[in-house]
Amino acid sequence: NHQVILKDYVNGFPKESDMLLKTFATIPLKLPQDSNGILVKNLYLSCDPYLCLLMSKGLVGSFTPGSPITGFGVAKVVESGHSNFKKDDLVWGLTGWEEYTIITTPETLFKIQDTDVPLSYYTGILGMPGMTAYYGFYEICAPKKGEYVFVSAASGAVGQLVGQFAKLTGCYVVGTAGTNEKVELLKTKFGFDEAFNYKEEQDLDAALKRYFPEGIDIYFENVGGKMLEAVLLNMRVNGRISVCGMISQYNLNQEQGVRNLSSIIMKRLLVKGFIIFDNFDLYPNYLEMVIPLIKEEKICYIEDVANGLENAPAALIGLFLGKNVGKQVVFVARE
Ligand code: NDP
Repeated sequence: NHQVILKDYVNGFPKESDMLLKTFATIPLKLPQDSNGILVKNLYLSCDPYLCLLMSKGLVGSFTPGSPITGFGVAKVVESGHSNFKKDDLVWGLTGWEEYTIITTPETLFKIQDTDVPLSYYTGILGMPGMTAYYGFYEICAPKKGEYVFVSAASGAVGQLVGQFAKLTGCYVVGTAGTNEKVELLKTKFGFDEAFNYKEEQDLDAALKRYFPEGIDIYFENVGGKMLEAVLLNMRVNGRISVCGMISQYNLNQEQGVRNLSSIIMKRLLVKGFIIFDNFDLYPNYLEMVIPLIKEEKICYIEDVANGLENAPAALIGLFLGKNVGKQVVFVARE
């Protein structure tokens, strides 16, 4: 069983070398007798920014040094001690960064019913990032047709969906990303009205004024820092900010301060953070909405697939360098 192990707690920004590929000569794994758990074969693993946060000591859910990273993935049941699961069922949910995992609380997993979409989609559009885009956009922002929407990290796992949901709602949508290739994707593939490369802008406030001369109604926040400062200057009265992520601030020993916060008062803004793990009760509603959109090709999803567990550490760290184009997935094994 190959595993990706966290070597030790990380202080500050993680590196590839903080993780190690280890081999254990314990194949085939067996479920212990009387176990209520399941043994799964992992097929795809999801690289998500929060995983790097959990490499630090002392957070709720911090990883254990010497043990495999745990994160979302798609897996196949090899052996089951739980009455709700049987051999060959396909599931998604929290699993280990390894070939085979014993999951002791399989109630936390979702069974995959719809298999005529790519299975890897259950790490992205049909999994946690999809739910994040759905909840963060529709439930928090309550969007209306004709509103002005801005999305940061717009070509990523969550952002590409927020932009497409906003277009389906009839909004005017602008996205920002860190390369010209991603900016092109936003405009040509995901249907954003406009997009720009934030790394090429000297003055983010001026850039936003160019794209939103009348201001922003909805900001879907994925990055924090300087971008948030500039957005606050450009929000319209009664605007909404869905605070999904602040990737520019993760793993810093001290967060950068954010200016312009008094705009929240003057412009009567709603600024709401969320952790999607609290909202999975809405997952069936989301699937009902999104599966037909995928099948009717009204929505598309781009993935960046790293091949093999040995490439998982680089893929994860790459999220913080903007290397991923679309949702970063790791392919582990075929069914
Ligand atoms: P992405 O697929 O968007 O990957 C991360 C992207 O962030 C990179 O590709 C890069 O794109 C951009 N980025 C990295 N560093 C910086 C930086 N310093 N400044 C600006 N942009 C940066 O990730 P996800 O879609 O999975 O996640 C997006 C955000 O949503 C993250 O902040 C994540 O933590 C958050 N999230 C929150 C959840 C919740 O429950 N609240 C659940 C899931 C995700 P670029 O080339 O454009 O710079």
